[in-house]
Amino acid sequence: MVLAQLGTSISDALARMSKATVVDEKVLGECLKEITRALLQSDVRFETVRDVQANIKKIVSLDTLAAGTNKRRIIQQAVFSELCRMLDPGKPAFVPKKGKPSVVMFVGLQGSGKTTTCAKYAQYYQGKGFKPSLVCADTFRAGAFDQLKQNATKARVPFYGSYMESDPAKIAVEGLERFRKENSDLIIIDTSGRHKQEAALFEEMRQVAEATKPDLVIFVMDGSIGQAAFGQAQAFKQSASVGAVIVTKMDGHANGGGALSAVAATKSPVIFIGTGEHLGDFDVFDVRPFVSRLLG
Ligand code: GDP
Repeated sequence: MVLAQLGTSISDALARMSKATVVDEKVLGECLKEITRALLQSDVRFETVRDVQANIKKIVSLDTLAAGTNKRRIIQQAVFSELCRMLDPGKPAFVPKKGKPSVVMFVGLQGSGKTTTCAKYAQYYQGKGFKPSLVCADTFRAGAFDQLKQNATKARVPFYGSYMESDPAKIAVEGLERFRKENSDLIIIDTSGRHKQEAALFEEMRQVAEATKPDLVIFVMDGSIGQAAFGQAQAFKQSASVGAVIVTKMDGHANGGGALSAVAATKSPVIFIGTGEHLGDFDVFDVRPFVSRLLG
């Protein structure tokens, strides 16, 4: 189920509940069942769905609500706040500060949109008056440096990489040294994604993180991957301490489950979403407006 459908299904369930003459346990139960089904069909993990259901029930304990309270409203608010809670781990991500050098490392599987997103992120902060720079620490995939170069050139951001060097940690450190000298206040490190999860990739991420000591590690994921995001995000989190998530391809078949799973696995917030192939197709992610929009 794509994300928009998830929102529609939940709003429909709430609307049906609202229309009932009396909101009793049975009506609430039906409403929760529909919401649960919609979340599961959107690939949200069972454990997460179970928590959501329990939390809503807790907030909306019908027995304890005084007569005359607006049960419909309380149920609607409980659903809204639970959806927000699923997307908000309660811990804000590191935010770069202008003029104060920061290092941000990007991790994610090949094809997730990582290289494009590095350039989008650079361009976003450039627009805010930063002096960003891009380092290609992917020595695994032929063409990775050229791709970063192309994106960096489009974004008019300085870049660093090598066709010869095979040690990603070494290139990353060289890039850092170069751009520190040039007073870049936001050094962005793009890393390898290989083609699947494998021990060597995670070991490499650990090495690059250790060598560069990033202020922030961002996990980039394709919004349409669903539950697989949980395992991926967790594996990256274990090798480099992920502190934020960017979900790409939200213009496509994103189903919501992926983003929710990644937040649950990393206990880190989504900070941006990618909404297209162009560098400007990039939005700041804000939980409450996002959930409001989702529910229509
Ligand atoms: P990487 O292998 O993770 O570095 O991924 P790339 O940056 O090469 O992106 C893979 C493909 O996804 C490219 O064709 C990108 O243009 C495309 N892409 C990246 N982000 C988005 C997005 O937000 N929306 C859409 N539609 N395509 C995207």
